[in-house]
Amino acid sequence: MTPISTLGEFGLIQHLTESFPIQHDFTVKTIGDDAAIVACPEGKVNVFSTDLLLEGVHFDLAYMPLKHLGYKAVIVNLSDIYAMNAQPYGITVSIGMSNRFPVEAMEELYEGIKLACDKYKIDLLGGDTSTSKQGLLISVTAFGYGEKEKIVYRKGAKANDLICVTGDLGAAYAGFLVLEREKVEFTENPEIQPDLSEYEYVVGRQLKPECRGKLLELLNEKNVLPTSMMDISDGLASELHHICSQSGCGATIYADKLPIDVETVKVAEEFQISEVTFAMNGGEDYEYLFTADISAFNVLKEIPEITIIGHITPDAGKIDIVLGPTQIASVEAQGWRHF
Ligand code: ADP
Ligand code: MG
Repeated sequence: MTPISTLGEFGLIQHLTESFPIQHDFTVKTIGDDAAIVACPEGKVNVFSTDLLLEGVHFDLAYMPLKHLGYKAVIVNLSDIYAMNAQPYGITVSIGMSNRFPVEAMEELYEGIKLACDKYKIDLLGGDTSTSKQGLLISVTAFGYGEKEKIVYRKGAKANDLICVTGDLGAAYAGFLVLEREKVEFTENPEIQPDLSEYEYVVGRQLKPECRGKLLELLNEKNVLPTSMMDISDGLASELHHICSQSGCGATIYADKLPIDVETVKVAEEFQISEVTFAMNGGEDYEYLFTADISAFNVLKEIPEITIIGHITPDAGKIDIVLGPTQIASVEAQGWRHF
């Protein structure tokens, strides 16, 4: 293992970033000066978003390989740009690391960052590097462009709009519970290697999330502009509250319509928790919750990765979930609390 001090800060940055090609012709200057320079295409607006990930708070290196962490740190930020109906093109990456990490660990982290940049055509514009007293800190800022008239906010939902979600919900939380369970067993009995083959999908959703950018592009192509939208990072329940409070409306959704993968259902049974709870409060799905005018129904119902789960009501702040023919519950906003 190579201590970071052998390369020094500048040597390390150069070593980690030299293999990143510039992906866009409007990117004028990335790493190597005091700031990055990007041209602004006419008629577009800039879209920015940033996230901070702290070891022990947002990730656990006991089961999160550094390569996956790098990949995920990029994805969660791109997800926010797409959620505005915009197109991400670049990121900056800031790292704080204790001296327990060798150069090889940083290489692994940047391998994941590069995979995400290649896949989503993202330029690495710059960043900052520092030592930390303990643990690893990674902060990614994502940059994107959007058409001003087509930016979708959280605030535009109106009564009778369809409520839709992409993909399936609760799987990342199921993966998290499985990984936590294996970690406890491994700590107690290090000889036993965990067999996660039965849980490949849910563990993958926790360790290697993807962005549904292509799906949102498809909606644009089909001339469906959502009335409101956000990405599902804290769980559907919490996100529904955001959309409804910002739009001044209410919502009714149907439990039997929630898209939940069979593997998620299996894990929910193992943990004796309702799979509806997974879908509503799980978090880290990085799917999209959006509302659309009812006139979009025919287009939406033809897209397999989109599920209509309910509709917007005029009753501000009243969010209900229909659990059965005579059973309706009020949805509480239990997002994920980090504090
Ligand atoms: P400054 O002293 O102005 O903060 P730095 O020496 O930190 O400059 O950075 C030099 C160049 O390297 C800049 O272009 C910066 O964006 C880039 N950079 C620094 N750290 C990272 C990193 N962790 N990942 C990517 N680029 C980085
Ligand atoms: Mg710096």
